[in-house]
Amino acid sequence: MLLTIKTTRYPATDLGYLLHKHPAKVQQVSLSAGSAHIFYPEATEQSCTAALLLDIDPVHLVRKGANEFALDQYVNDRPYVASSFMSNAISYVYSSAMNGRCKDKPELTTEAIPYEVSISVLRVKGGEKLLRQLFEPLGYEVMAEQLMLDPLYEQWGMSQYFKVTLRNTLPLTAILRQLYILMPVCDNDKHYYMDSQEVEKLNEKGKGWLETHPEQEMITRRYLKNIAALTKEALSTNLKEEGATDDEKPKEKIRLHDLRLNTVRDLLGELKVATVVDLGCGEGKFLRLLKDMPALTKVLGMDVSYSALEIAKHKLKLNKLPEAEREKFQLMQGSLTYRDTRLSGFDAGVLIEVIEHLDLPRLEILERVVFEFARPKHLIVTTVNVEYNVMYEKLQPGEFRHGDHRFEWTRAEFQAWGNKVAEQFRYNVSYQDLGEVHETYGAPSQLALFTIPDTD
Ligand code: SAH
Repeated sequence: MLLTIKTTRYPATDLGYLLHKHPAKVQQVSLSAGSAHIFYPEATEQSCTAALLLDIDPVHLVRKGANEFALDQYVNDRPYVASSFMSNAISYVYSSAMNGRCKDKPELTTEAIPYEVSISVLRVKGGEKLLRQLFEPLGYEVMAEQLMLDPLYEQWGMSQYFKVTLRNTLPLTAILRQLYILMPVCDNDKHYYMDSQEVEKLNEKGKGWLETHPEQEMITRRYLKNIAALTKEALSTNLKEEGATDDEKPKEKIRLHDLRLNTVRDLLGELKVATVVDLGCGEGKFLRLLKDMPALTKVLGMDVSYSALEIAKHKLKLNKLPEAEREKFQLMQGSLTYRDTRLSGFDAGVLIEVIEHLDLPRLEILERVVFEFARPKHLIVTTVNVEYNVMYEKLQPGEFRHGDHRFEWTRAEFQAWGNKVAEQFRYNVSYQDLGEVHETYGAPSQLALFTIPDTD
């Protein structure tokens, strides 16, 4: 399976910045279904093409998912056709680009740039007509070459497979999101189970274009594998979003938290970590997002609250995952104020909206437990930015955003704390805004990324 993205916008090598992939390097990423190779067949200022080659291991797929033996589980077209595996690979390998982030040249993320996307083999159940129905309303020029079943046996006729080339001028984020959803819609065959999370993914990646697509209903139905209940759920959430005007506040809150979780997930993707501990995982909202990161090999959620962990266990629906996936996830009860060897040895730790739940004297204990003893290579901490509280009409002056918060910090206070612990425990640290930035009050939430320097 090969997917190429080409641009001729000068200097075309900017594509490397947008994709966060250096044109001079060949990179390989392991995914649970196989491996992905990223390379540039051409990279000049006039024309630059990034290729994503997906090498699926069909036998491994069977081991992961199947209960009974059937020949077609071993001998099938999955390794050769772009489908939901390619979607997952795109969202993992190009996660920054998909989420509209570009560290070095941020202005590029919103620029509409001419791209040519080529998919070597795509199964299109519905033929060229379907391809056009899906892509043309979004402004794509569609070129489809139907492939013969076998060129040696012409009498066998044509296959359902196409070499597809698409041209459009859009920000790269939009192109990637549209491909993410529409490739499996063409194929109409999903390899993994479906649940409400797929509805969330569809809504997230479809935002801004699917709501107004003339084939919204058909796309939704096929993406959700014709499961009526999920299709109904997806279409009704879309309608709700459009109609909601009277109750903006909770929606805003939900969006902010989702933004935090998505940002942390994307960072983990960029850091290429394999093992993660979610410290203060609560009801497991973040852990659920990690189910979509095939490169992770071990995920531990810990929290002091037994009832929150019970809910996390229920919502994670681990029993519905293939056995190999299930083993990756573990939950444990513990406290961040006690040293615990089970928290050691992880590539990354996350503390999402947790520190402000501890009394300040206890925070110092957490610092030692997390930075000194658990000591993950990377640590991501998020907390609210109190300066932004004036923007919330319902908050009284001095009132915290949550009844259980013991403190809320300004940006300067958070960074002073971050710099102090980074120095004390020998980490590097950088900061990031979470949410839309107000010119005086900053963003509603903030993030610190701590990393142990390689020289340590
Ligand atoms: N990270 C989750 C939950 C945030 S709420 C999310 O973003 O959705 C804060 C969580 O921290 C709660 O679940 C609470 O039980 C947990 N917590 C508070 N003090 C803790 C401690 N000392 N040790 C472990 N968890 C703690």
